[in-house]
Amino acid sequence: MGRVRQKSISPQIKKKRKLLRRGIVHDAISGRDFRELNLIYACEQCTYFDENSTSCILGHNAKNHLEERQLKTYYNTGRMALCRNLEID
Ligand code: SF4
Repeated sequence: MGRVRQKSISPQIKKKRKLLRRGIVHDAISGRDFRELNLIYACEQCTYFDENSTSCILGHNAKNHLEERQLKTYYNTGRMALCRNLEID
């Protein structure tokens, strides 16, 4: 039996696949929606955010959804890591 020849994959594709596998989901948000809608996207706006400890009382990693990080990610990628448990009063 001969050896199975593996297809070569470019380093860029390997890197992209790796990032997609391990990262949290980032949703695309159009610039128009971002400008014109009153979007709720950050822990600081959420009922479950403890301002004293800057943490989530549900136990999620709040660092991924803090306003400063959300805006930085959005301005760099057009996407945000929207928390599925975000809730407002
Ligand atoms: S539920 Fe989500 S948005 Fe709300 S504080 Fe926790 S991590 Fe942040």
